[in-house]
Amino acid sequence: MTNAAASLDVSAAPLALESYALGRFVPTGPDAVDIPSAIDGSLVARASTKGLDFGAMVHHARAVGGPALRAMTFHERADRLKALAAYLSERKEPLYALALLTGATKRDNLIDIDGGIGTLYAYASRGRRELPSERFVVEGTPESLSKGGSFLGTHILTPLQGVAVHINAFNFPCWGLLEKLAPAILAGVPVITKPATATAYVAEALARLIVESGTLPEGAFQFICGSTGDLLDHLTGQDVLSFTGSAETSGALRNHPAVSRNAVRFIAERDSLNAAVLGPDAVPGAPEFDLFVKEVVREMTVKAGQKCTAIRRILVPRAVAGEVAEALSAQLAAIRIGDPRRDEVRMGALASLAQREAVRAAVAEIATEAKIIAGDPANVDPVGADAATGAFLAPVLLRCDSPLDAHAPHAVEAFGPVATLMPYDSLADAVAIVAKGEGSLVASVFTYDAAVAEDLVFGIASHHGRVLVVDRDCAKDSTGHGSPLPGLIHGGPGRAGGGEEMGGLRGVYHYMQRTALQGSPARLSSLTRSWIKGAPAPVTPEHPFKRPFDALAIGESVETASRVISLDDIEHFAHFTGDTFYAHMDEEAAKANPFFPGRVAHGYLILSFAAGLFVDPAPGPLLANYGLDNLRFLKPVSPGDEIKVRLTVKQKQAARLPAYGEVRWDAEVFNQNGETVARYELLTMSARTSVA
Ligand code: NAP
Repeated sequence: MTNAAASLDVSAAPLALESYALGRFVPTGPDAVDIPSAIDGSLVARASTKGLDFGAMVHHARAVGGPALRAMTFHERADRLKALAAYLSERKEPLYALALLTGATKRDNLIDIDGGIGTLYAYASRGRRELPSERFVVEGTPESLSKGGSFLGTHILTPLQGVAVHINAFNFPCWGLLEKLAPAILAGVPVITKPATATAYVAEALARLIVESGTLPEGAFQFICGSTGDLLDHLTGQDVLSFTGSAETSGALRNHPAVSRNAVRFIAERDSLNAAVLGPDAVPGAPEFDLFVKEVVREMTVKAGQKCTAIRRILVPRAVAGEVAEALSAQLAAIRIGDPRRDEVRMGALASLAQREAVRAAVAEIATEAKIIAGDPANVDPVGADAATGAFLAPVLLRCDSPLDAHAPHAVEAFGPVATLMPYDSLADAVAIVAKGEGSLVASVFTYDAAVAEDLVFGIASHHGRVLVVDRDCAKDSTGHGSPLPGLIHGGPGRAGGGEEMGGLRGVYHYMQRTALQGSPARLSSLTRSWIKGAPAPVTPEHPFKRPFDALAIGESVETASRVISLDDIEHFAHFTGDTFYAHMDEEAAKANPFFPGRVAHGYLILSFAAGLFVDPAPGPLLANYGLDNLRFLKPVSPGDEIKVRLTVKQKQAARLPAYGEVRWDAEVFNQNGETVARYELLTMSARTSVA
């Protein structure tokens, strides 16, 4: 089976899964692993990477994919991601069909498939909005390193010149692949991705669509369907290894000789015993109580609990533990479990019979220090399926009455629909119980009390990558405990792996090297395409507002005539705008203020007069002023002072529409003594040469 359409045909099982290496699909090698359906155990696919030349794949990524990606700007790469997202959006039905065989319901697939595509879109749009139309990023503001200002430093980020190796867990074959792919491609680093074998047939179908889309340049994407062979032996300090899975595998990869010897960047997202805490104020009848119960049930049953972010520890005030247990048990009992292809089914199967055995073993271990109060791990009656051949498991709720003294409920991850109820006696105890998880991806706090929220959030934040505070005001729009989002970091300390993914541009920067760059203002301005104070600022004879975007040079400037600010001006401005603050109106009161020598001009009056000094009034290529950044009033302006402005082109950025570009101007307002009284960055839109 070598073409994309054939591999998406579920009825053609067993599928012979292929890897994609060096620009072609490579047939399954010998000694293939059988991959059974989670629903009935029938053979769905077979996979083997025997015979793959992993060294050649790494070389191909570095020699072909990397240069092609690095030749593009961030905006061009963002456009490729957007095109890929659009291509996948129109072809996701076959992915849904395959994913049902992993035991996932339609609702689960929305998270995995639509969530993954959504992450591509999110990174495409961030790349356009938040990154420059360049191949590097300038981070922060320049650091002054000399008294005279002739030597300074700044920070730049450039793409690593290696390969990003992504190794994923079985639970999200699409989202896992795409949420790692998007930031790496946006950064300009080629990817070799490996899904977990148990659900690799879904990831393989996705990989075929990615290749078929033609949106990524040759060498930017390769795919391994099966084991990684000697892949890691080829990694160097220019490469990134990003892993999602168990603590055990993470440890083995982190300690791999090439990874530790070459200081390969390693990002790990691994198991985590996430907590949800019910505040003491959220008694039965309070909206937060019901929201809590609903969220715990949802987290236990979505993806049959096979989510790294799922709630595993349910912390409640001891006084309401019985009522919470009752409410949870009732709602869990109402969940229809069975073949996810049936409409009435709310929870599907675990990924495999082996996975079910692992979960049962974990439950038995937790049960040495807790008791099962709902659900029978040994018995389930799935709708439209057979529990002997399908990996179904009823949700299991345990209760541990002395959580501060227990170990297993905080340390054993049952990667299924399993959670432990833990009563607490005080907020300090709740914080201590949460900390026994030794670091988690996420915790949620359900309270409407500001003091409770403060104690819990600042008590547990250091142990978490994300903390969600739920109350009646945000519940309707809340994205929920278990949803990692492209704009927020996903990761956590300690047991959770110590890694961070996504988080907007933070996730992109994992694939880039940060370099401190030192030199003269002129050299750094030309290298970073951003004017720095101290670099040449030639005054052009023609007003720069008359010059279209493409004709403007970085550093080009205009110096205005000067204007005296009189007491009448201040009075007039005060009454005209209504800003009669005493510092502008009352000499005695102003003098008593530690900042002012007496009555002073309004900051906004200075800005308005500055605009009056630098504008060129006639219609021209300058289309609009759309804001100010980093405004500071540095010195008071007194009646009789004389101000003038120097405006310098600081940065230029082509906009998405070809008609205009954004210009960032450094604006500095001086007094008659040459002292800076105000400084800011003015943002304008200017027409391009072609249309001016
Ligand atoms: P796993 O057994 O550790 O496997 C994870 C990935 O590592 C799979 O692709 C696996 O490939 C691969 N792998 C295993 N041994 C390897 C080796 N020696 N060299 C290279 N790759 C190797 O974990 P899993 O069972 O798939 O996933 C469940 C676990 O993942 C749970 O503990 C869960 O909490 C965690 N998880 C964490 C997150 C998170 O974001 N923090 C998300 C999802 C899941 P094969 O499948 O081919 O063995």
